[in-house]
Amino acid sequence: LDPSSESLSPIERDIEKVLRPQAFEDFTGQEKVMANLKIFVQAAKLRGEPLDHVLLHGPPGLGKTTLSYIIANEMNVGIKVTSGPVLDKPGDLAGLLTNLDSGDILFIDEIHRLSPLVEEYLYSAMEDYKIDIMLESGPNARSVQINLNPFTLVGATTRSGLLTAPLRARFGINSRLAYYDAKLLTTIVLRSSDILKTPITDEGAFEIARRSRGTPRIANALLRRTRDFAQIKGNGQIDTEIARYALNALNVDEHGLDEMDNKILLTIIDKFKGGPVGLKTIATAVGDDEGTIEEVYEPFLIQEGFLMRTSRGREATEAAYKHLQKNYPGQSGRLF
Ligand code: ADP
Repeated sequence: LDPSSESLSPIERDIEKVLRPQAFEDFTGQEKVMANLKIFVQAAKLRGEPLDHVLLHGPPGLGKTTLSYIIANEMNVGIKVTSGPVLDKPGDLAGLLTNLDSGDILFIDEIHRLSPLVEEYLYSAMEDYKIDIMLESGPNARSVQINLNPFTLVGATTRSGLLTAPLRARFGINSRLAYYDAKLLTTIVLRSSDILKTPITDEGAFEIARRSRGTPRIANALLRRTRDFAQIKGNGQIDTEIARYALNALNVDEHGLDEMDNKILLTIIDKFKGGPVGLKTIATAVGDDEGTIEEVYEPFLIQEGFLMRTSRGREATEAAYKHLQKNYPGQSGRLF
């Protein structure tokens, strides 16, 4: 199960939209972030000003896009959505910026993947609501400055470590989204089942929730697939039994760890005697890049107690050995 949105089919995208909370009050969890955002939104509205630029960071599927739409709804403004890799040329960005109404939101997903040229172009837009555009080319080329309507940039990133300092400094509001615990995810699964008109027991919802890698997008995806099992193999209602049956059939890990999570743990245990081993070495061994492991996979593994970050590197915990059904060497070798 891929927690990113890139692999979604058009139907899945539509369902995501239906399940997407529209207002602050529908958004579950992230209490601290939400409490602050509500105040900033209220204050901006009171002053009749656009909201300060917002940077949302955190692993995929935790609600960054959702929050951007909610902010637009709560501010009663429009929103235009794009992403770092799509904005190739400064001209693409200029086109979007000049089409914003006063107070509108420009949402840039994966903002860490902006090209340096486009990023630099964004600075004056964010700071002074002004951009320079080139008219004509060749010997007649000249640049003119255009005033933009005041707007709010909401940037989302899974890799905050890759953001340049000048870009980061231009965001007045900086919020980090955290993984959801099973209780919060249960609430989200129950809400989604209600929207999808799928009968579900609290225990059934909890079973899905606790195996969703702390991620609402995964919880919703598992709910939809479990619903199919309930309709075909059961009586239409999702209870613990049908949830377990479905999740096992779908090869969903008992703890909701995904393939890469397990690969990382297995590599540390099998190839490096459980660690400590450096991040770079792990990255090479599993074939992913260091930053992604550090910012996307590791936080969940650490939170769930499968991995430890020590001064000498990463170590697999006893829980990780147990989870992968490996013998934990423990301290026995060092007893005497
Ligand atoms: P991101 O942009 O961080 O990758 P999204 O905002 O696209 O994540 O969220 C993925 C899905 O998870 C959305 O369809 C939304 O319905 C659901 N979701 C995310 N956060 C919440 C939340 N706090 N409450 C309810 N549903 C949520």
